[in-house]
Amino acid sequence: MSRFMNSKYRGMEAYTPGEQPTDMKYIKLNTNESPYPPSPKVLEAVNCTEVSRLNLYPDPTCKGLKESLANLFGVKRENIFVSNGSDDILNFSFMAFCEGSKRKVRFPEISYGFYSVYAELHGVDYTAFPLMEDFSINISDYMKNDATVVIANPNAPTGLALSLEQIEDIVKANPDYIVLIDEAYVDFGAESAVELTKKYDNLLVVGTFSKSRSMAGARLGYAVGSSELIADLEKIKYSTNPYNINRLTLLAGEAALAENSYYMDNCKKIIESREYTQTELKNLGFDMTDSKANFIFAKSDSISGKELYERLKARGILVRHFDKEKIKEYNRITVGTKEQMKALVEAISDILEERKNEKK
Ligand SMILES: *Cc1c(COP(=O)(O)O)cnc(C)c1O
Repeated sequence: MSRFMNSKYRGMEAYTPGEQPTDMKYIKLNTNESPYPPSPKVLEAVNCTEVSRLNLYPDPTCKGLKESLANLFGVKRENIFVSNGSDDILNFSFMAFCEGSKRKVRFPEISYGFYSVYAELHGVDYTAFPLMEDFSINISDYMKNDATVVIANPNAPTGLALSLEQIEDIVKANPDYIVLIDEAYVDFGAESAVELTKKYDNLLVVGTFSKSRSMAGARLGYAVGSSELIADLEKIKYSTNPYNINRLTLLAGEAALAENSYYMDNCKKIIESREYTQTELKNLGFDMTDSKANFIFAKSDSISGKELYERLKARGILVRHFDKEKIKEYNRITVGTKEQMKALVEAISDILEERKNEKK
């Protein structure tokens, strides 16, 4: 750290993204990307004519893309915000809807790591509530109407989802605060709360093109909410970087929405592969949560979380291991293609066998 660093950031701990290694080719099951490429229209859209216009700034209002999202969700264009990844939108939301000790924030202790990072970045007082024994969210922790609420649904890395009724209860119980539902994984088996945004002006639903829409590398996220909430987010965006979605991503996003069924079919395949893998891992003695996301959260009594992670990595398979005490026996395994999952199951089976022999 230089001696010039602003004192308010000196003690801060930044978010640690999953590894994106370049040393060798891995079966990459560690950052919840889609194993499938973008749809054909997306590949077409990002063609040389648009590349040749990269000398010009993109449309800061993102009109076309917002229109497509508004159509998909059955809302108006002014109910849609788009930005450079949903992380960007989460960041803006902490800036817009939280404030020191005046507008505190609540979220689950085991959840997306960025929530506490943004709270610290913006000096917001926060409470991280422990999950229940079975990793489910204790709804009553979020019924107090005294703080902004941020919940990932399905939650990560547990994959557990709340029902729409539970979310509506939380929204109703906090009329004076924003309830932000992070739907990064909603397309893999949970219920979206987008419809509720028409009824409640304190609900903001945030989504991403990074998981179910195969565009993690393009950086594109969206939010749905009342036109007032969206205007607040626009204000922050125009005060930081009005051109924060590049020309190619704008076109790619629109093209993706024009082929929505391609992505929904991929989600079905991923759900099938998830079920397949869970059955296989169960047979190998693993315990798992009932994941509604594109990842599996699994532990085994016969091998530690860390050792399994390391042995898989040595065999060219990357999964995500978290060092946090309460979940350190688990690994979060992204659901890839059926072939990738077969390779994973085979590797795990070999590793368990190998260890048995080593012990003899
Ligand atoms: C992946 C993820 C995001 C970030 O998505 P980007 O759009 O790639 O920034 C946000 N929230 C959760 C819970 C995620 O898992």
